[in-house]
Amino acid sequence: MDELHRKSIAELSAGLAEKAFSSVELTRHFLARIRDLDSGLNSVITVAEKEALLQAGAADERIQKGEAGPLTGIPLLHKDIFCTKGVRTSCGSFMLDNFISPYDATVVERLAAAGMVMLGKTNMDEFAMGSSNETSHYGPVKNPWDTERVPGGSSGGSAAAVAARLAPAATGTDTGGSIRQPAALCGITGLKPTYGRVSRYGMIAFASSLDQAGPMARSADDCAWLLSAMAGFDERDSTSVERPVDDYPGALEQPVKGLRIGVVKEFFETGLDKDVAASMEQAMEELKRFGAELVEVSLPHSEYSVAAYYVVAPAECSSNLARFDGVRFGHRCEDPKDLEDLYKRSRAEGFGAEVKRRIMIGTYALSAGYYDAYYLKAQQVRQIIAQDFRDAFAQADVLLGPASPDVAFRLGEKASDPVSMYLSDIYTIAVNLAGLPALSMPAPRVKGLPVGLQLIGNYFDEGRLLGVAHQLQKATDWHLQTPEAFS
Ligand code: GLN
Repeated sequence: MDELHRKSIAELSAGLAEKAFSSVELTRHFLARIRDLDSGLNSVITVAEKEALLQAGAADERIQKGEAGPLTGIPLLHKDIFCTKGVRTSCGSFMLDNFISPYDATVVERLAAAGMVMLGKTNMDEFAMGSSNETSHYGPVKNPWDTERVPGGSSGGSAAAVAARLAPAATGTDTGGSIRQPAALCGITGLKPTYGRVSRYGMIAFASSLDQAGPMARSADDCAWLLSAMAGFDERDSTSVERPVDDYPGALEQPVKGLRIGVVKEFFETGLDKDVAASMEQAMEELKRFGAELVEVSLPHSEYSVAAYYVVAPAECSSNLARFDGVRFGHRCEDPKDLEDLYKRSRAEGFGAEVKRRIMIGTYALSAGYYDAYYLKAQQVRQIIAQDFRDAFAQADVLLGPASPDVAFRLGEKASDPVSMYLSDIYTIAVNLAGLPALSMPAPRVKGLPVGLQLIGNYFDEGRLLGVAHQLQKATDWHLQTPEAFS
């Protein structure tokens, strides 16, 4: 029983089916780990013990009756950006500190329908704005590999919790890298699907044309099972794509032999730590051993991606966050003098510094006279970046590069320098601008810390990405290492 947290989702599923343990026992095991081990990490901000045990009991009944699916009875954590009926959804902000949603996000609903058990909600950067989890109202999350370092962000709570095996899996969202960068820094596998593959309904909006939810777990195998349940058309999200869901677990055994893997030249130029580059080399050697053909590809306009993103994302967030005004949603100030005072003080008190910075940038960029110069221009750059990817996919089936320029940085190291913080997403953001799927998986560690290998796919090619990652994971143990204090 002590070893339940070391098992994969497939192993847990088999154990539940054979009645080696029940979902209630499994759920208690992970709840106890959260209670005993999370105080030094701060990765879980709401524990839903009562609800989890009820869901686990219901899962055990389903298993008993022979009505279980592969995910029935498996516990997970949700990033606190997903609305959960009856359980607080704060989005890492004081603005929503006491918000209880009256409904479940589609992702939450689908995973619950598959029989998964929600243990609680994970800490995150406020409204998903950040790369270190330091912008959370609930305090920073610590990286389980070194608690003086950040876990990445904004899904840093989910990444840290999975890396510390406080849950077998978690959900995340990725607007500019928030699944892949924390997955890289914590040494887990995280997938950002194609834009529109997973419903955004009930996922608190940051930048609507970029936001996408995805699975975070130890391996590609685990992610494949989760994505199967998360993906699919949802008529409540007008940007969700009406297209059948592929058989992701079935795609895991596709051979890597003969695959053309495009090594993105620009991702290996200035700014990349040399040890991280060496770790990438090892992963590439492994792929060559499998018979993959490595070719060099170029994304010549990727250098403009961070600049374009920091116009598009703040512009969209300034519009999305207008609803938090103390009237319709969110924190309301005490004793307002008049309506204007109510708006001003509620928003001034409810939002943190990074969120305010983005709202100001976005409002400015969208204002009359500046719209064409900034937002429209950024959208044009976005088209050019998407074209770069189309050209690259004419030469390669999958693209490869690092997920992050360096290993996890120290808490506080970049907190006062927003631009250096923004640059930590330099290899992930172009993918969101183009709407493509991409994953980060553990590569060989450097300086004792995790490194993320990023694989980028063509639209709706999640199965192939998971397959390449799975083949690598079958041959290596990079993804199986756990920080000592949590093993
Ligand atoms: N770090 C990026 C930002 O701060 C991306 C965040 C995200 O993907 N949610 O905007």
